[in-house]
Amino acid sequence: MNAWKIRIKGIVQGVGFRPFVYRIAVRHGVMGNVLNDTEGVLIHAEADEKSMSTFIEAIRREAPAPSDIVQIDVESAEYRGATVFEIVPSEHREGEVTAISPDLATCPDCLRELFNPNNRRYCYPFINCTHCGPRYSIIEELPYDRPGTSMAPFVMCEKCTTEYGDVLDRRFHAQPNACEICGPCYELLDSAGEPLDCIESLIVACEMLREGKIIAVKGIGGFHLIADASNIETIAELRVRKQRPQKPFALMVRDIETARRICSVSESEARELLSPAAPIVLLKKLDRPEFILPDELASGLDRLGIFLPYAPVHHLLLNISGIPALIATSGNKRDEPIACHNDEVVRDLAGIADAFLVHDREIVGRTDDSVGFEFEGEIVLTRRSRGYVPHPIKMPIARPPILSVGADLKGTFALTRGDEVYLSPYLGDLTGEKSIELFEEVLDRYLKWLKIRPDAVVCDLHPDYASTVLAERFATEWDIPLHRVQHHFAHALSVIAEHKLSDDSYIAVAFDGHGYDPDGTIWGGEFLLVDGTNFERTAHLAQVPQPGGDIAAKDARRMALSWAFEAFGKNLPNLAEKILRTFGESADALSKIVEKRRSPLTSSAGRLFDAVACILGVCCENTFEGECPQKLTAIADRGEVGEYHFAIGDDILDPSPAIREIFADIERGLPPKKISARFHNGLARGIVCMSKKIAQEKEIDTILLTGGVFQNPLLLKLVVDGLRETGLKPYWNRTVPPGDSGVALGQALYGLRLHSNR
Ligand code: ZN
Ligand code: ZN
Ligand code: FE
Repeated sequence: MNAWKIRIKGIVQGVGFRPFVYRIAVRHGVMGNVLNDTEGVLIHAEADEKSMSTFIEAIRREAPAPSDIVQIDVESAEYRGATVFEIVPSEHREGEVTAISPDLATCPDCLRELFNPNNRRYCYPFINCTHCGPRYSIIEELPYDRPGTSMAPFVMCEKCTTEYGDVLDRRFHAQPNACEICGPCYELLDSAGEPLDCIESLIVACEMLREGKIIAVKGIGGFHLIADASNIETIAELRVRKQRPQKPFALMVRDIETARRICSVSESEARELLSPAAPIVLLKKLDRPEFILPDELASGLDRLGIFLPYAPVHHLLLNISGIPALIATSGNKRDEPIACHNDEVVRDLAGIADAFLVHDREIVGRTDDSVGFEFEGEIVLTRRSRGYVPHPIKMPIARPPILSVGADLKGTFALTRGDEVYLSPYLGDLTGEKSIELFEEVLDRYLKWLKIRPDAVVCDLHPDYASTVLAERFATEWDIPLHRVQHHFAHALSVIAEHKLSDDSYIAVAFDGHGYDPDGTIWGGEFLLVDGTNFERTAHLAQVPQPGGDIAAKDARRMALSWAFEAFGKNLPNLAEKILRTFGESADALSKIVEKRRSPLTSSAGRLFDAVACILGVCCENTFEGECPQKLTAIADRGEVGEYHFAIGDDILDPSPAIREIFADIERGLPPKKISARFHNGLARGIVCMSKKIAQEKEIDTILLTGGVFQNPLLLKLVVDGLRETGLKPYWNRTVPPGDSGVALGQALYGLRLHSNR
């Protein structure tokens, strides 16, 4: 007999890890004990050599789904002659911080109980266990114990207490443990917020859904607006009430089989959908779906955002209503954070929801649904929120704590502690007052949890970002240095951070909508040479006027004209003249502005996509972010091999030849899907060739792809494949979004690097 000390790090608390270790130990005849401590789980194990190795292997292989083992260290320990294996209480020491689990989708065991009429939790919408249920969204204080959660007001009944105290029970120390007798419950309110006199609120809500009504449903991280996805009138009504003419609605479907009847679902997409994080996955619509839904859900797009029910209430709504696919969109006013309090939702969503299905457990940590798409077998997150936060990201270096405040329209902050970065959930558009309040509220909680005081704060170079203003205030209040980092450089650093790349030189292709640079032009199609805390803009997309500044980011006709002028000069082709004439009286003034370059210049790739989408007549207005580009990509013929020419200059990638070819091809009647494909192919070729040129000059072979434009799966694929063919090594964002909510991570790395240089 020998003894070992086994240390397990990662997400191993609040996920039923100790009872799991207990069962494995008993099975393998291992004696000793297991406990939670500051670093994770610590096991003292006594057994013979052989049992020991099978024991450790079983821990690795059979670890509960929501856990995430990062590291197992084994060292020999003193033999004590233990005669049992036991779970010993955790030692809560001062200054302790343990990893907080993200919220976890309802597990299969709980689901079976939920629909078992003989179970005492039959149809109870708050069923959970140590493998599933809310975590982040209910935690106020650490350590993670019931009194520090919004479950505190609910006193467990006798049966629940017994489960909670039984080491072998699935609900041993499950902090949100509850049942119908002792736990939270749902209530249905009418459109004025008055309680409806009904016992079975869920059943009535389901009847209303079947009648085509829109219900605000309180879930895990906030409210959803839920409605029957097959009802065209309801969809139209919801679009009017939410003032959301085009933006696609996410769907919550009954099960993975239903998803497969609407969209193609690969093995890895299925894995993501069914994972404890249960994100919205952007799935390719089937050409011939077995289950036909109205096009109005996501018109003009080739993908649908689909997720599976992740809270018991979702399973119940789908099951009782019998509706196979429900619209489930964030319950918020336009650009505001998702609503999460009962009074708030009744106020904010009055006139949008026909009824409110609320419950009496407070949501502490507000989170939206996370969103992503599959690329090369892994999910690329475009919104990182519920199910992922506050899971930390390991960094390549460890330094004193740093706060970074992210960008603007996709509010997120990051806090570093040691070599870990804690990202906030998506906080909404920071130009809104409510989002700023939320920013400060979440930051306060994170600081309390992590027990840190930042040594420095990092923000964007943009002087007018709301996040910059906040950062300036924090720096003054806390008397700490403030560092400003250029937007696209931060994008590039986010790739280095999440892949833990070494402190080397890299080429970054940062393509997005816009980013500030003090040179007075708008950046957004950049090739950067990144080196430590410095970067150099080695090349960029050709710059054209962005007439009207921000207005042109919405009105794609302006960029269409700008690119037409760039490509043809004054002798505009007929089609461009036609677009110009849609401006009526202001057409002349506009053409002067563009011609004389009397407006800010931009190298934005996002605006180039807008221009092409509009020239092609696919879409001329971004009623939501990325609408024009997404609709342009949606029609691209994947089989088309032709490509347009992007001229490669010394430091300019110039789309003008491509623009001329596009006008010519439209004239000769080439189908738009071919033109769109040739544009994508050509742009990808241009990016690859420019990267290769810089790579040779600088003797670098690693290319970082980042920025919102790389949320385009087609372009990402073309560029990644092209770079590999050329012998270059591409890296892209996955863990954090390529878009602006990933910027905070890059800023954090900048801060760490800066402080490690001193
Ligand atoms: Zn469970
Ligand atoms: Zn109970
Ligand atoms: Fe950006």
